[in-house]
Amino acid sequence: MRTTLEIVIRGQVQGLGFRPYVYRLAGALGVLGSVSNSTAGVRILAQGPNSRRLARELEAHPPPLARIASFTVRRTKCRPFNNFEIVTSRRAADSGVEVLPDIATCPDCRREVADPHDRRAGYAFTNCTQCGPRYTIIENLPYDRPRTTMTRFAMCPDCAREYRCPTDRRFHAQPNACPVCGPRLLLLDNRGEAVPGDPVALAAMAIARGKTVAVKSLGGFQLACDALSNRAVATLRRRKNRPFKPLAVMCADLATVRRFCRIDRAGGEMLLSPGAPIVLLARRLRPTLTVSRLVAPGNNRYGVMLAYTPLHLLLLAKVRAIQGTPTVLVMTSANRRDDPITADDEELFAELGGVFDIALTHDRPIANRCDDSVVASGRAPMLVRRARGQAPQSIRLEPVFHVKQPCLAVGAELKDCFTLAQDGRAFPGPHIGSLASARAERFFAATLERYIAWTGIRPRVIACDLHPDYLSTRLAERLSADRQVPLVRVQHHYAHVLSVMAEHGVREPVLGLAFDGTGYGTDGAIWGCEFVGVDEDLGWSRLAHLAYLRLNQAGDATADPAMTAAAYLLQALGRVPPGIRLGPGLGQLDRVAATTRGTWTSSLGRLFDAVAAIIGVRARASFEGEAPAALEAAAEAGERRSYYSADMLDFGRRPALIRTPGIIRAVAEDARVGTAAGVVAARFQNTVVKAAAAMADRLAQERGVRTVVLSGGSFQNDALRIGIVSALGRIGYRTLHNRLVPANDGGISLGQAVAAACPGCDD
Ligand SMILES: [Zn+2]
Ligand SMILES: [Zn+2]
Repeated sequence: MRTTLEIVIRGQVQGLGFRPYVYRLAGALGVLGSVSNSTAGVRILAQGPNSRRLARELEAHPPPLARIASFTVRRTKCRPFNNFEIVTSRRAADSGVEVLPDIATCPDCRREVADPHDRRAGYAFTNCTQCGPRYTIIENLPYDRPRTTMTRFAMCPDCAREYRCPTDRRFHAQPNACPVCGPRLLLLDNRGEAVPGDPVALAAMAIARGKTVAVKSLGGFQLACDALSNRAVATLRRRKNRPFKPLAVMCADLATVRRFCRIDRAGGEMLLSPGAPIVLLARRLRPTLTVSRLVAPGNNRYGVMLAYTPLHLLLLAKVRAIQGTPTVLVMTSANRRDDPITADDEELFAELGGVFDIALTHDRPIANRCDDSVVASGRAPMLVRRARGQAPQSIRLEPVFHVKQPCLAVGAELKDCFTLAQDGRAFPGPHIGSLASARAERFFAATLERYIAWTGIRPRVIACDLHPDYLSTRLAERLSADRQVPLVRVQHHYAHVLSVMAEHGVREPVLGLAFDGTGYGTDGAIWGCEFVGVDEDLGWSRLAHLAYLRLNQAGDATADPAMTAAAYLLQALGRVPPGIRLGPGLGQLDRVAATTRGTWTSSLGRLFDAVAAIIGVRARASFEGEAPAALEAAAEAGERRSYYSADMLDFGRRPALIRTPGIIRAVAEDARVGTAAGVVAARFQNTVVKAAAAMADRLAQERGVRTVVLSGGSFQNDALRIGIVSALGRIGYRTLHNRLVPANDGGISLGQAVAAACPGCDD
């Protein structure tokens, strides 16, 4: 037996060429031993005088895509090695491995695909240890080809040679494939019949003719059409029954994006990052490429991503070759309203048969559905949807937020996402969306089951929202009963605030501003503009809120902006003043809105809805957040300093109130005298920023706190987020907001997990 160093590395360490990296390093240092993957992590046995140095080098310079959670080194005894070898996977009881997210095609693979002399020229499934599918093909751990959906493809001799050669870029690249042995493309017409010919060329031709093509991507199908053609986009919208909600677009390179968007530094970096998310970018005022106005009507930003698979690159190049102009394609998730993204041919034809003209599909199954991630660029960048390129990565929790018992938090209603947490790790699931259909619930259950298997976290407490009617609450109640574990109900806005504190590891008294469209309050009202004090022991109290409005409709995301406007006008002025038109057919609004039944709400989203309707920007909404987005887009950039002088803060009672009649009267008066909608929108937003910052300052002073945290979907509004951050920054406060999970309800499960399972939270 010989003295040996055992190095165990946990975290995101598999599927990124870690073992070859160790192999090469060991070779260079003359170290003997072995490296293996197991569910406990990467395990290295090292013998020889340079063993310590190998450990130091690995810790200081891990491979580029690795994220190390723990690194342990201990001395042991072992049989003598006479070389350094890579050992095939073995299973271990506890799980220290994290599954890698999918990675956008790397420059080397791009070059090969584009090189007519390369054996992978034009091959849509080219990948290597630095890029390609991961999460979406993995069925089980440890990560090895037989446990992925690549298992059905036997490697040809050339691919097998690359896979076995330690100096090759594809050494142990589990999805390695080539045109001889790998997955193949298939083109199907809209009856599901195979179409002979080159699938990419024919799909490109169809797109150039204004048709809609369903494209099988990494985590599901996308619907693609020419984004420069009004006719093509209009057809897609009509068939998908999606009149206004913005559609994401895809380009081949930054140069094309720059022709119609302004790309700031953070935005450029995000577009080019390995995760390749959809980035929300400001429109160029004078574009040199005219994207159809139907792509994102009433919105001042485009959601743009760069091609992240060889298939996308090939398709974009072929369309460009046909059209002779830079190509921008609509690339939107293929799903029926509120359903999860479609992931196989059968489902595609059953659910979306009438929406696309042809389908560009292939024979590599999708193991895990995953939508595209979305981030907002600009100052203080922010995650909007956490999915492809991020899932299933974990979030590290600081010791003050370690969860003392394994926990499952189920999230909220729309934009649902669960979180599994144990000790210092939180694993937010991918974006699930609404749980409104049986299909969505199956997606939730299947994904959760896989996360539990992979992470080894067996929940001993379940957290859900306080709302009794959320589908996620019902699901949590069932899971709690089935698994016989306690259920903890967590107030919505408190969970928002905790999500920021947990992300930043800040456990001290803070003031939280949780602004959004809807969340169930402890008094049964719909809350949504909340100033929440949270103490070091994580106890909380509601310090202030937007004054209640009574709505004779549900105060949630389905609320109608024109009806909400009528209710606000009645409250402030006793009537809808002449000269203010809330849209056709709404003559009865006074009477309708004046009924005394209804919901009390302090939602900031509803206030934005109302103002959007009063100034004629948007009186009807077809999706959540449509009117506030239209209001933000309309706001005149030049009106940065003007606001209404309405006295809005009321400290006469506790919780303190932000009163709205003054601002509603001012908006209505401006609208009545014909002030431009953009000017009114800007004044309104500036007034909200001013009132919120003043309220925050006063409450923070009273409690002696210097840290203000911001969360909630309303902070997707740049003017609001940046305005409040700057205003509070100028008077010396530290402000924190969500970065690793979405500020909207997609991030709420992290806060729920912390509330349910952190020490001090259970009393
Ligand atoms: Zn590559
Ligand atoms: Zn091959």
